[in-house]
Order: sequence, then C-alpha cells, then structure tokens
Amino acid sequence: MARIAFIGLGNMGGPMARNLLKAGHTVVGVDLAHAACAAHAAAGGTVAASAAEAVRAVDAVVTMLPVGRHVREVVLGEGGVLASAAPGTLLIDSSTIDVETARAVAAQAEAAGFPMVDAPVSGGTVGAEAATLTFMVGGPEEAFRRAEPLLQPMGRTIVHAGPSGSGQAAKICNNMIAGTTMIAVAEAFVLAERLGLDAQKLFDIASKSSGQCWSLTTYCPVPGPVPTSPANRDHKPGFAAALMWKDLKLAQQAAAATGAATPLGAQAAALYALFCGSGHGDLDFSGIVRMLRGEG
Ligand code: NAD
Repeated sequence: MARIAFIGLGNMGGPMARNLLKAGHTVVGVDLAHAACAAHAAAGGTVAASAAEAVRAVDAVVTMLPVGRHVREVVLGEGGVLASAAPGTLLIDSSTIDVETARAVAAQAEAAGFPMVDAPVSGGTVGAEAATLTFMVGGPEEAFRRAEPLLQPMGRTIVHAGPSGSGQAAKICNNMIAGTTMIAVAEAFVLAERLGLDAQKLFDIASKSSGQCWSLTTYCPVPGPVPTSPANRDHKPGFAAALMWKDLKLAQQAAAATGAATPLGAQAAALYALFCGSGHGDLDFSGIVRMLRGEG
C-alpha cells in the first residue's frame, strides 16, 4: 500500500481521497479550508498543516486544485512540493488546468527528478463519490505505469493519452464537444416547441437518427425523455455551467496558442459567458436551454 499526499480536498478531491483511503492507502490530506480537512480526518485520513509537511516521505502526491495558478504555486512555489518532497516522488495533477501550465510544471518537476503526469477527470462529483471517474493521463510511459494503480481506486476508465499535457488536451477537446453539442440540442428543442413538435417525439426520432449524441441521450436539456438528466431536477448540477465555461475558455486559450480554428467552440464559450454572467453559473450546463428559450 502507498503513502499518498493529497492536496485539495474540495468537491472532487474530498471523495477521491476517501476512495484512496478505502483501498487501504495512507492518505495525508491538505486544504486551506478547515471543513475539508475535518471531513478527511473523519474518513480516517491524516491531516497536515501545510503541503511541505504533507509531502515529506510519501510515494506520491495528488493535487486537485481549482486552476493552473494554484498548481504552479503548490508544486513550484516556496515551501511547495518540489522544495519539500524527496526526488523520485511521483506527482499526479488531476486538476483541470491549461495545457501550457501543465507542460511547464511537468518539465520543471522532471528536471528536478520528479516524474509527473497530468490526469484530469471526467465524471463530476457523482463519479468522484462512486469511484467511476475517467482519467485522461499525459506524461512519460513509466510515470503512467506508476500512476495507474493509484488512480484505479478512484476511477473506472484510465487512458494514457500521450506525453505531458495530453490529458489536459483530451479534457478540453472532449468538453468542447459536450458544450457545443449541448447548445445545438437545446436549440433544437426550443425550435421544436415553437413548431408545436412534442419534445418526446423529437427525442424518439433524433436519438435514433443522425442527431444522436451524449448531450441528447444522456443529458437531455428538457425534462421527460431522459429521467436521470438534470433537466428533471430543475437543472441542478450535474456539471455546473461555470465549470463548462471554464473548460471552454481553456479550449479557446489553447486554440489561440496553436492557431486551431474553433469557431463553434468560440461561440459556445461566448454563450456560456452570457449564461453565467446573468447569474446562472451554478445551474447545470444543460440549463442553457432556458436562456435560448428566452427565460429570465
Ligand atoms: P473545489 O473548489 O471544490 O476544491 C478545490 C479545493 O482546493 C478547495 O477545497 C480549496 O480550499 C483547495 N485549495 C486551493 N488552493 C489550495 C492550496 N494552495 N493548498 C491547499 N488547498 C488548496 O473544486 P473541485 O470542484 O473539487 O474541482 C477541482 C478541479 O477539478 C478543478 O480544476 C475543476 O475544474 C476540476 N473538475 C471539477 C469537476 C466538478 O464537477 N466539480 C469535474 C471535473 C473536473
């Protein structure tokens, strides 16, 4: 069994760390929020006062932090992971961050003798609780082989996507598909309403035709056709619109840096900016149907 430092015990990191504990690993947790540390201790974990204290004498460090700036600070900063852990310690960053930062942090870690993978997840808080997350992993083959058994207790699907940054690249490409198709599906249901076409009939036909996609068949933005979709609980997340907007912005940042043409991704980012800007960032991202319908 491994000794693991887990930095960032929030909505995702909290349950992920608990699943590592359940698998029998020793997990030293750190978070700026007292409540997150208390929940980790209540689940049988050890709590450290700082990242520096947590990462001494561990086999691996998992970070699950909000954005790239936090990962940079925690891994490279004063009193951070590189300054405090023993070289050779495996670093796994599961936060969703920009590709550029992921690559830069991994390069500095590797130069200092720390193998590192970026391993962002898909599956949300439900997947984190149920240990059914999908991990998209970027990094050298050997680091991936070391990380895989530690990711297994937290997820169901673990894919080695390629070298450093490839996990983050896969995550933003996937979410750009989900964000754009959700808007397309929502627009179709709004048009159907105006045309007097029953939502269930549209679903029955489109889900068996060329309009078929995840945003329709799993996350249908209107209530009824898919009883488990967030639309049936007033668009409570699920996957919050604010997080979708964050990922669409990361995709746009990457598109600008590489010169990739992503006009629909850009439009999707702009529409989620409007939706979140009008105070709906905490609704599920499928709730964008309300804005397209003209609801306040
Ligand atoms: P969260 O805000 O609930 O948790 C982040 C935690 O990090 C907080 O508890 C915060 O106190 C802690 N933190 C911040 N800076 C720290 C530091 N310097 N040292 C120690 N702790 C620190 O966020 P979350 O929902 O758990 O998301 C984490 C990451 O996972 C994000 O990058 C997010 O985009 C990604 N993600 C989230 C979801 C989701 O559904 N929530 C799904 C997939 C991916």
